[in-house]
Amino acid sequence: MSPESLERLRSTIRDVPDFPQPGILFKDITPVLADPELLNEAIEGMTEAFAGQKVDKVVGIDARGFIFGALIAQRLGAGFIPVRKKGKLPWQTRGVDYSLEYGKNSVEMHVDALAPREKVVLADDLLATGGTAGAALQLIQESGADLLGSVFFIELAFLNGREKLAETGPVHALLTF
Ligand code: AMP
Repeated sequence: MSPESLERLRSTIRDVPDFPQPGILFKDITPVLADPELLNEAIEGMTEAFAGQKVDKVVGIDARGFIFGALIAQRLGAGFIPVRKKGKLPWQTRGVDYSLEYGKNSVEMHVDALAPREKVVLADDLLATGGTAGAALQLIQESGADLLGSVFFIELAFLNGREKLAETGPVHALLTF
């Protein structure tokens, strides 16, 4: 991907201070989603790391990971699997609890979503502390599927989430702040 395209993506992301709580600088990706050319480039860039590999399933995390994950899955010729917040999935689930900066959270995946040995990619919009992605990766590991790697549209490098995920497999991010 060209430096110009990356710069256009970077400058289209909107910084929203103090959302959803004081002290958080929220990276609003909706202006990228709204632009057909930039959306296409974002998906193309996120897919590059897995080009030429056989990918069976892309796992996307509730909620913006559904958007990126489903588009990446289609580009790679793979199926899409949602990881959702607790209580949202209709069928039998396995879940993982994890700690946030303040409090706890829980994510779930259908028990039959992934088969052992399937080749899987994890996708989300943004890697911050890595707690959310780490929980989703644990669900993938428990299913017996093979993780090819994780991909994020944005990485907040100063929060060191990458370190938390490093031992599970390669971590890719299109834009780093
Ligand atoms: P974490 O578990 O700390 O890596 O947080 C990652 C999740 O929280 C992702 O699904 C993001 O959508 C969301 N998130 C965390 N921090 C931000 C931020 N500064 N801007 C936008 N989304 C964020």
